[in-house]
Amino acid sequence: MLIYNFGYAMELIQDDLVKMMFWVRVQNLGIHLIGPSWLLFVLSLSGNERWIKPNRVAILYAMAFPFLITSQTLGGANLFHTNPRVNFSGGFPTFDYDRTWLNYLALAYYSLCIFSSIVLFTQMFFRFPHSFRSQIAIFGVASLLPWIGGSLYIFEITPANIDTTPLTLTLSLLIFLVGFYHFGMLDVLPLARDIIFEGMSEAALVLDHQNRILDFNTRLGRIFKEIKLSDVGTSAKELFKEYPALVRFMDDEVGEKMEFSITTENKESFYEAKRSNLFRVGHANAIGKAIILHDITPLKELMKKLEVLATIDSLTQIYNRYSFQELAEAEIYRVERYGGELSLIILDLDHFKLINDQYGHPAGDATLVHVAQLCRRLSRQSDLIARLGGEEFAILLPETSLLDAICAAEKLRAALEQTPVEYEGQRFSVTASFGVSSWKPPERSTFLDLLKAADRALYVAKQDGRNQVWAK
Ligand code: GH3
Ligand code: MG
Ligand code: MG
Repeated sequence: MLIYNFGYAMELIQDDLVKMMFWVRVQNLGIHLIGPSWLLFVLSLSGNERWIKPNRVAILYAMAFPFLITSQTLGGANLFHTNPRVNFSGGFPTFDYDRTWLNYLALAYYSLCIFSSIVLFTQMFFRFPHSFRSQIAIFGVASLLPWIGGSLYIFEITPANIDTTPLTLTLSLLIFLVGFYHFGMLDVLPLARDIIFEGMSEAALVLDHQNRILDFNTRLGRIFKEIKLSDVGTSAKELFKEYPALVRFMDDEVGEKMEFSITTENKESFYEAKRSNLFRVGHANAIGKAIILHDITPLKELMKKLEVLATIDSLTQIYNRYSFQELAEAEIYRVERYGGELSLIILDLDHFKLINDQYGHPAGDATLVHVAQLCRRLSRQSDLIARLGGEEFAILLPETSLLDAICAAEKLRAALEQTPVEYEGQRFSVTASFGVSSWKPPERSTFLDLLKAADRALYVAKQDGRNQVWAK
């Protein structure tokens, strides 16, 4: 615009055709870039920056290129300005020429750019909050002014052969400037929308009341690889038909929150979806909805890990005290109801402190793993093995009498004594003391009763010199 205006001002003060033609050529360097630049400006203003790609920008400017080149032949071949001359009809000299189809084509392209930006302003008018509407309307009208000025000149309707384009361009520019400084916020809003919408850690999908896609952010595109920019305006239910849970969620009958999972490339991801209906200020009917997906996969994985941590001892990979007690109580309940019997073995390693002191704490840990493995190897599939804490283990033997349990404990005691622990080239043996208790209905019992009885037997085994089995 500046090149155009400056060139035109310089043209007006010349009285010589050759000098005028020089300044007309200068003007034309600016004129033909106004249309595409205007459109790009309005695209970015209206929050459509995503549309602006280098190849598209190149095409927009390339369309104006023939006009730019032909206009520079003025003074030579005169391709764009046929029959150049000085016009004195207004009482002062102006540059004049015969209009040809090329001039009309250039105007047509400029009109196309301007009307595309009017369409964008119209979209903004309906999409943006009410408070911005008067501002957007003013900008739309301001875009039309130079178009009117330019058309009048090309069709030779202006008085005294005056080019009204620079004047109307300046007027339009002034309106834009006042608009920006007076209202101040329009440039911030699309920017804020982009930063928030694109920068949020959730995936977002905006639908109209007929579940057509209006907008989505990059994060959503990362979850659903099939969604493309060109899907805007198409049916979301159709696009997401492979995710029935999500499709059901689009309808209002389902609650406003739900969890669902997606499996891609053998990896299951979990999402919490939230739906909010969108209302126009002062209207009761929803005009659309926003669906926000929050990735809760890390949370789910953590919960799974915690669940394992709560039931399994991380060192020995057998049940911990908490889950052992739960399972044992369930077993006691089962026996109470259906009959049978139940035995409990507990064992405590002998002088374990010495192993830690002599071979180091990691060797002590390896010993605990060794004992757990031995217990598992020598027990039945139906036995429950647990680490009660420290170097104390327990085995619950369903459908096993006291005598059989004592035998099992003795077998384990002997095996432990005879199987040395090997840890980083060191070999040492470890022994344990055993306490066994048993229970059979109709006598009543609890897990703690069983444990106390076995503990008393274990105490006696320790007192009696360790590495032996005692029963209550
Ligand atoms: P006793 O024959 O009387 O049972 O002797 P003890 O040394 O085994 O006696 P005590 O029960 O007092 O000591 C248990 C030791 O086990 C103390 C503690 O340092 C050790 N310990 C407990 N938990 C762990 C563990 O997870 N790893 C290792 N390496 N040592 C542990
Ligand atoms: Mg011990
Ligand atoms: Mg102990």
